[in-house]
Amino acid sequence: MRILVVEDDAAIANAVCEALRHAGHSVDHLADGRQALQALHEHAFALVVLDLGLPGAEGGEILRRLRSNADSVPVLVITAREELDERVRALDLGADDYLVKPFALAEFDARVRALLRRRASQGVPLLQIGRLAVDLAGRRAMLGPAALDLTAREFGLLEALLLRRGRVTGREQLIETLCQWDETLSDNGLDIAVHRLRRKLSGSGVQLRTARGLGYLLEEDDDAEQP
Ligand code: CA
Repeated sequence: MRILVVEDDAAIANAVCEALRHAGHSVDHLADGRQALQALHEHAFALVVLDLGLPGAEGGEILRRLRSNADSVPVLVITAREELDERVRALDLGADDYLVKPFALAEFDARVRALLRRRASQGVPLLQIGRLAVDLAGRRAMLGPAALDLTAREFGLLEALLLRRGRVTGREQLIETLCQWDETLSDNGLDIAVHRLRRKLSGSGVQLRTARGLGYLLEEDDDAEQP
């Protein structure tokens, strides 16, 4: 999942981003509230981790703007103990949960998992296509009864295509989804991920098709086995 961390304290931001990456997520970090508003406008995130006291625009203002745009992305507020009024206000403004700094990373991980699980269970908890079942919140894919062994990048690719199943997703859009801002994914890197995922899906009843010049799509394949 792609997660945005908005925090101007570098030490906390590093620890939180590291924990999220360790859990297999793509993480983007911003220290400025105004940049965060811009990013939330331009990109889709599965979760936002939001500090309240920020340069540029306050966390409370970011929340208010998100919810007034009917954006229901889960928001986990991380805040200092002395900001009690702010915390109450954040919940009133539509934060889904909050943690008081300093917090244990194990608790942070658990809150993130709970929010992602809650979000997934509001929609379809397990996405199914052919014999393939994908648990987006749990970051697991199963082929029949067997777990499908995927790298984080392959899982991200599968997730992106699965959420748009039957429709073509362009290469640019895939690269954008799979990359954090501080990374680049070359055309060649995308080709490799596509090739590997396609091989792992072989015989699953799901086909990763190339729409030449346009991009890729995931389709149910009636003739089961692929060459
Ligand atoms: Ca701050």
